[in-house]
Amino acid sequence: MPIPPSLIKKLRRIVGRKQVETGPAELLVYESDGLRLHTARPGCVVYPASTDEVSQLVKVCCQAGVPFVARGAGTGLSGGAICDGGVIIQLSRMNRVLAVHPDDRYAVVQPGVTNEYLNLQTRGHGLEFAPDPSSGVSCTIGGNVAEDAGGPHTLKYGVTHNHVLGQTVVFPDGETATLGGPFPVSTGPSFSTFLIGTEGTIAITTEIIVRLVPVAPAVVTMLAIYSKVADATDAVSGILTAGVLPAALEMIDHLCIQAVEAHLKAGFPTDAAAVLIIELDGEETLMKREAEIVARVCRGQGTAAFYTAETDEERLRLWQGRKHAAGALGKITQAFYTNDGVVPRSRLTDIFQAIYRIGDKYGLRIGNMCHAGDGVIHPQILFDSDDPQGPGRAMDCSRDILLACLEMGGSITGEHGVGVEKRGYIDQMYSAVDLAHMIRLRDGFNPGGCLNPGKIFPNNAKDGETGSAASIPPGAGE
Ligand SMILES: Cc1cc2nc3c(=O)[nH]c(=O)nc-3n(C[C@H](O)[C@H](O)[C@H](O)COP(=O)(O)OP(=O)(O)OC[C@H]3O[C@@H](n4cnc5c(N)ncnc54)[C@H](O)[C@@H]3O)c2cc1C
Repeated sequence: MPIPPSLIKKLRRIVGRKQVETGPAELLVYESDGLRLHTARPGCVVYPASTDEVSQLVKVCCQAGVPFVARGAGTGLSGGAICDGGVIIQLSRMNRVLAVHPDDRYAVVQPGVTNEYLNLQTRGHGLEFAPDPSSGVSCTIGGNVAEDAGGPHTLKYGVTHNHVLGQTVVFPDGETATLGGPFPVSTGPSFSTFLIGTEGTIAITTEIIVRLVPVAPAVVTMLAIYSKVADATDAVSGILTAGVLPAALEMIDHLCIQAVEAHLKAGFPTDAAAVLIIELDGEETLMKREAEIVARVCRGQGTAAFYTAETDEERLRLWQGRKHAAGALGKITQAFYTNDGVVPRSRLTDIFQAIYRIGDKYGLRIGNMCHAGDGVIHPQILFDSDDPQGPGRAMDCSRDILLACLEMGGSITGEHGVGVEKRGYIDQMYSAVDLAHMIRLRDGFNPGGCLNPGKIFPNNAKDGETGSAASIPPGAGE
């Protein structure tokens, strides 16, 4: 249903005529996020510049019963930032770092600030925001908060919720609240933390207080090359059980290596079955000892070769290879689908065997890059987009991999969220009671369901609905 002209008029009154887009060409951009397989055409896009404008916008949308969704950079990979026929609240104008407090190690930012820009503002003070999604050049802190984003360095430093001290939010009825604050407070529930990872279904974040950590005094980056994937995955467990906690412990397998070398020339040997990138950070003497342990474990695990990056340039090249591996796949395929699951680290070898087996079953090539130290996997499922069955087969293949993760005691998402992509599988992971309580919480804040409908839960389930995973069985929880 088109958005009523009376609502468009009200939106324009709030943000100004030029800050509301309704043209088909402009709306095309907002039909999907990074997951191209789910698309929905919004009714319009608005660009607010302040918390107050966001509050006024959601109020009028709610009154009109029109759905709306907050959007950062649209790099999400689970279809979270799309809104069928509704209003996209695009936060890119709210892109300022408002304050950096080096002495108290925190910064206050607007939600549209990117990870890279924030760190450019803080590194001069010897501080940084630790969560480092591979999309950090373009994704926003607001998006990080909504998805509880991780990244290579979260093995040592933790994910977004470990680095957010407080936030200003707008609830769907337009009420604004300031939650948490720069200093630890132990009064009452940590409401700001509760909201992190709720994928923009409970409130819109309009300001964030982020914790800053000191930039490590020294960094060592190593590359271990393997001719068997199982040796690489066993080395991951070996390094961690040897008592070393690397800042990052990443793995890329053969197909992704091929793509990276065709595109970026990061220096990965193209005949390797897999490579591990192992990064240590901290004091130099400690790191030297840890680097020796890592080298010993990797060699004991049958590494074909082991290198330490000698210069910053070499280090950056290795990271370019890892962080841009997904983009590089475009060199060897027309289309691919990024899966995101988790297994206990001890099951890494098993999940890779399962992934290759599942790929063979569907006749699809799968390249892998993963945050191996955390057990977070990102199989990249290559498919033929000219084949009408291609996308469906890739999604089925992805589903089988996620179910294998669950069988191994893992999760259907490591860091990309559930969105629309995985809402059909969430009842495989949580009981009906668990889901019902989650939905009840969401509905308490989003009673009309106008904010980001249809995400996370099956069929936009509502508490009390019969026949869905959402109902609480009588007596449950007693
Ligand atoms: C190449 C590539 C690499 C990636 N690597 C990683 C990685 O290493 N780790 C990782 O965790 N993710 C990764 N991602 C996924 C994605 O970049 C992250 O989830 C990121 O945090 C999304 O930020 P965004 O600004 O693009 O959010 P969007 O895609 O715009 O939105 C994502 C969700 O957040 C909600 N949202 C956005 N802003 C707000 C707000 N201010 N208030 C309330 N809700 C909001 C939206 O409604 C939507 O549901 C990667 C993606 C790509 C394309």
